[in-house]
Amino acid sequence: MDRSEVQRMLSAALNPPDVDSEEDDFEEFLEKLRFFFSENLVLAALDLVDRENVIRLSTPWGYSHFEILGSTGSYTVFPGFPSTREPGKYDSPPFCTCPAFAYAVLLSKSELMCKHLLAAAIARKLSQCVERTIGKAELTEVSSRQCS
Ligand SMILES: [Zn+2]
Repeated sequence: MDRSEVQRMLSAALNPPDVDSEEDDFEEFLEKLRFFFSENLVLAALDLVDRENVIRLSTPWGYSHFEILGSTGSYTVFPGFPSTREPGKYDSPPFCTCPAFAYAVLLSKSELMCKHLLAAAIARKLSQCVERTIGKAELTEVSSRQCS
């Protein structure tokens, strides 16, 4: 499994079940995570899920992203957009707004993912997200925060 396959696996876990065609159980999923990520990273992600720090924000029109409350701040995890042209591929891969993702994942490529993205995927698999519905106004606020 290479980098893009890891992204695909996580994005499948992050996206709603109707686009997730692979039905694997949680133990299997966790085993895969342990294979690709360090034990510390997996434990940190599980800890975030345990503390109910993973909030899933959904819009009434079916789009969702995640807000992860970390110890140093809260970050937004975007699940990635499945391609409409090539099934199983993604127009944009999943990403997180934290500094670790920008530096370790995108720039130096020393990590495949950050703990927030893992936490969101785990929480989603376990159905342990804190669910919240947001409207258009709040979504605009979220996106303007990302761009500023
Ligand atoms: Zn992150």
